[in-house]
Amino acid sequence: MPAEKATGIVVRTTDWSETSRIATIWTRELGKVSVLAKGGRRLKSNFEVALDLLTVCGIVLLRKSSGGLDLLTEAQVVERFAGLRTNLPALYAGYYIAELLGEGTQDYDPHPKLFDSSLDTLRKLSAGGDPSALVAGYELEWLAELGLKPILDRCAHCGTQRLDTGMIAMSPMAGGVVCGPCGKEFNDRRTVSMDGLVCLNELVMGEHPAVGREVREVLGFYISSVLGRRPRMLNFIAVG
Ligand SMILES: [Zn+2]
Repeated sequence: MPAEKATGIVVRTTDWSETSRIATIWTRELGKVSVLAKGGRRLKSNFEVALDLLTVCGIVLLRKSSGGLDLLTEAQVVERFAGLRTNLPALYAGYYIAELLGEGTQDYDPHPKLFDSSLDTLRKLSAGGDPSALVAGYELEWLAELGLKPILDRCAHCGTQRLDTGMIAMSPMAGGVVCGPCGKEFNDRRTVSMDGLVCLNELVMGEHPAVGREVREVLGFYISSVLGRRPRMLNFIAVG
C-alpha cells in the first residue's frame, strides 16, 4: 500500500466506532477521498483537531487496493476559517459548499480548479463577504467544473441572442436559458426575468455585487436538478 500525501477540505465526518471515524476529505490532488481515521474520536488526538468540518488539512493516507476504506495515517491543520464561527449566514454557506463538494463529485476525480475556488470562496466568506453573491458565483463555477455551465448569453436550444421578445426561462435539460418559443419544448423550465438574466450573466464575469431573490431561486432550482435532489443546506442560504 503506497502512502499518498494531499491537501484537502473536510466536507463530512461520521462516527465509525467507539474510537474511530470516517472523514470525507475533498483534496486538491486526489479529488474526494473517504478515509478511516483510527483513534479519530479520542480526545486531543491530532485527528480530532484536524477533522473538523471545513478545516483544511494536510493528510497522508494509505490507499486500499480493493474496495476497503483508505486509512488516514496523518492529518494536520493547514487552515481554518475562524470568521465562519461568528457569522451564521457565512457558516451555512460554507456547509453548502461542503455539501456540493461531497455530493456532486465522484471519489478520486480531482478538480484542482474547483478546489482552489472552494478555498477562495471560504476565505472570502470567513472575511465577511456577502454570502449570497459568493454562493451564486461558486454555484456557477461548480457547474462549470462538472461540465454543466449554463449557457446564459443566448438561447441554449436555438442559439438566438434575441431573448427580449418573449417569456424567457432557465432549463437544465436545455443547458441554460431558453427563448420564448423554445421554452415550450422543455418541461423543466423555470421562468426568469430579463433583470435576473443580466444579473446571472454579470456574476459569471464576477463583477456584480448584488444577487436578488430570483437569481437565488433559479440557481437553487438548477443545482437541485443537476444533483437530482434539493441540497439540504439550500434553504439556509441568505438571499440578496
Ligand atoms: Zn430558442
